[in-house]
Amino acid sequence: MKKVLTTCPYCGSGCTFYLLVEDGTIRGVEPNKENSVNNGSLCCKGHFGYDFVHHKSRLKTPLVRKNGKLVEASWEEAYAVIAKRLGAIKKDFGPDSIAGFSSARCSNEENFLMQKFMRAAIGTNNVDHCARL
Ligand code: SF4
Repeated sequence: MKKVLTTCPYCGSGCTFYLLVEDGTIRGVEPNKENSVNNGSLCCKGHFGYDFVHHKSRLKTPLVRKNGKLVEASWEEAYAVIAKRLGAIKKDFGPDSIAGFSSARCSNEENFLMQKFMRAAIGTNNVDHCARL
């Protein structure tokens, strides 16, 4: 079994652990006891919350609505649809008709880029984050 050191994706505490990987599949988690903020401990999310990695319902490609149905699309196609729709909404209803909602599962840098995009490119301060729920 291969041990892969990584950082928990669930919150900003930054706990680290080893993923126990067998034939490319995660079989378990082992807390990191050395030089870690968690000092060998993990909450239930960090210890048991990895099922999504191999879950059959996990989205692996963007989905774009066509004729009322969500269909798989390339990132280029999805970005083109997003840019076109956001541009049209901004033009017709103003920048404050758009809001951005980010995630605690993104890195600080990704969240920074999200708010920068909303403020500088869209032109609104309507920015929030799931950790405030
Ligand atoms: S193990 Fe729990 S406390 Fe630690 S980073 Fe993950 S979610 Fe946060």
